[in-house]
Amino acid sequence: MKAEVRDVIPLKPKQRSITTLKGVGPKLAERLRRLGLYTAEDVLLHLPLRYQDRSRITPIGKLQPGEEAQIEATVVNSQISGRSRRFLLCHLSDGTGDLTLRFFHFSPAQQQWLSQTGARLRCFGEVRSSYAGGLEMIHPECRRIELDTPPVDGQLTPIYPATAGLQQFTLRNLAEQVLEQAEALLPELLPPMLLAQLNLSPIAETVRLLHQPPADTPLAELESGCHPARRRLAFEEMLAHQLSLRRLREQTRRQAAPPLASGSLSQRFLERLPFTLTAAQQRVLKEINADLMQPRPMLRLLQGDVGSGKTVVAAAAALRAVATGAQAALMAPTELLAEQHHRNFRDWLGELGLDVAWLTGRLTGKARQLLLGRLAAGEIQIAIGTHALFQETVEFAELALVIVDEQHRFGVHQRLALREKGRNEGRCPHQLIMTATPIPRTLAMSAYADLDTSVIDELPPGRRLVKTVVVPDHRRNEIIERIRQACRKGRQAYWVCPLIEESEALQCQAATVTAEQLTGLLPELRIGLVHGRLSANAKEAVMAAFKAGELELLVATTVIEVGVDVPNASLMIIENPERLGLAQLHQLRGRVGRGSIDSSCVLLYRPPLSQVAHSRLAVLRECHDGFEIARRDLELRGPGEVLGTRQTGEQSLRVADLLRDQDLLNVVRHTADLLLRDHPDCVEPLIHRWIGAGTRYGEV
Ligand code: ADP
Ligand code: MG
Repeated sequence: MKAEVRDVIPLKPKQRSITTLKGVGPKLAERLRRLGLYTAEDVLLHLPLRYQDRSRITPIGKLQPGEEAQIEATVVNSQISGRSRRFLLCHLSDGTGDLTLRFFHFSPAQQQWLSQTGARLRCFGEVRSSYAGGLEMIHPECRRIELDTPPVDGQLTPIYPATAGLQQFTLRNLAEQVLEQAEALLPELLPPMLLAQLNLSPIAETVRLLHQPPADTPLAELESGCHPARRRLAFEEMLAHQLSLRRLREQTRRQAAPPLASGSLSQRFLERLPFTLTAAQQRVLKEINADLMQPRPMLRLLQGDVGSGKTVVAAAAALRAVATGAQAALMAPTELLAEQHHRNFRDWLGELGLDVAWLTGRLTGKARQLLLGRLAAGEIQIAIGTHALFQETVEFAELALVIVDEQHRFGVHQRLALREKGRNEGRCPHQLIMTATPIPRTLAMSAYADLDTSVIDELPPGRRLVKTVVVPDHRRNEIIERIRQACRKGRQAYWVCPLIEESEALQCQAATVTAEQLTGLLPELRIGLVHGRLSANAKEAVMAAFKAGELELLVATTVIEVGVDVPNASLMIIENPERLGLAQLHQLRGRVGRGSIDSSCVLLYRPPLSQVAHSRLAVLRECHDGFEIARRDLELRGPGEVLGTRQTGEQSLRVADLLRDQDLLNVVRHTADLLLRDHPDCVEPLIHRWIGAGTRYGEV
């Protein structure tokens, strides 16, 4: 995907294609492309993952198992051992201790020189404890020391991220070539004043140090990413991302948007609700309304934990568009969720005489034509759907507000494509992005730098914590008994079978099998099944039956993750929870505990669980605050997972790590302000260097 995007982007005149490097033909170029390397600059920014230290000789007596080391020693004796599988053992000594080299593959020539008692060898490899209790190296790199053998390396040896068919020496070779021209390939883009102020070294010097660090460079600092050289590049990269989103924001904000001033319809709607808004909902709605009154497009991210009541806020905002005679569109990530929003909106707004349409991908033929016609004529005020809403064939009479629910399921690209779609003759709709995956502040400031943020940090009154337990699979029968008890008391339960296989078909199959088994074990219960392969009608029918209490147990895939609101459901079982993200589990769990009854969630895992998996599930047991959960998830799994970008392959940072480098963010933001204001010429080249050739979401 990444490759395709990038292929069509012409190189800038000053950029040099990677094929201009010596030794790079079409085949190698293809392999390099797989690493995201297209230009000579890319090679410079492809930094080593780690380093090997061949600059020192370690006395054998000082070796530690597990470390990589270089030794020099004399051959004491050698022998071939093993019956079915022959191997060569070569015993060495350097006066401080003994070490054995073990080779499973060896040529007769190698055997010959490794067997010469008294020969001196220099070896580099990983030290291990052998079965016999001594120290050994398996297949070390070895050379014989002759009179003309050069002294040890003056530099650390870089080990690069590689891919199949690409050798380290090829990458080293390419790095050497481009380093010769580092100054020309990576000109300084930051103003000299700024470099001095922030105490940043020149970029060419920085990359040279990272590719070929002098032997005395602290290895640990280099490898952990704390070395100033690495931080300097991380800073520039984060700056480029920040600039790209900020520039995008400015481009959007320069366009005109219809001011949505009238709040009377919205007020009438709120007065009719069976509850009053929480203080947090009111505050957030005020922030949104203030934006909507402006003649510039709103760009706002609305964050709020599961069940915090984002939908009502969205509906109130939509009514401001409707009140001025314009339209609003609400996009949800799944059909099921779109359907639920549609039902809610219809119930809420039908009384006000409004027409709410549900546009699904499954709607075809005449019915679809009719609906599209009414949408284009402005006869429908609010349209709800999945991304099908924004296909080319869909036209709005006057779209004034776009609401995107559960944004984390959409990539940044999709968000920006949507923005593009709504753009019309220099006019742009207001945008409200909602997410229940609370994004830690630091992350939000970088990944959503183009948006203002509002947070609903309070749940409606009367909500109870969902008691969460972590239970191994062999106690399944107990759990089944618990379901029986709960349902006997008139409660309802969910049984969730998450993704076991990648394919949706297999996932549905797993859910089907589980439903059959549970039907056998709980014959007195009425059990329903919902998964992604059912038709929309069938799904809706099952959900409606569950909601109406006609079904007691609902077996489901993760399609129920977002959406469904059944206050009487008090028990949720999640199988294989270790395969899901914490935020996703928290979402799922949010399906219970919606009423005033005590609820619980059982995480039914299949042992053995890794240590990390254990601590992850423990987080869920202890913690009920979505923000805190997201923060811990971030620590345990990294930003790619939390933002959902790992799947879409987007916004992959080359050097920076949003977690490790988050302390840079404030400076990054200030610097972005400064550059946009005082040095606008720097902006484009910076974006181009770091993102330009990658996923160019700055210019969707
Ligand atoms: P989410 O933020 O997860 O999308 P929803 O908008 O689906 O949450 O709201 C969850 C439930 O809470 C819905 O049934 C909604 O009607 C209800 N709700 C929303 N706001 C309030 C409130 N202020 N008081 C009571 N219930 C509310
Ligand atoms: Mg919601």
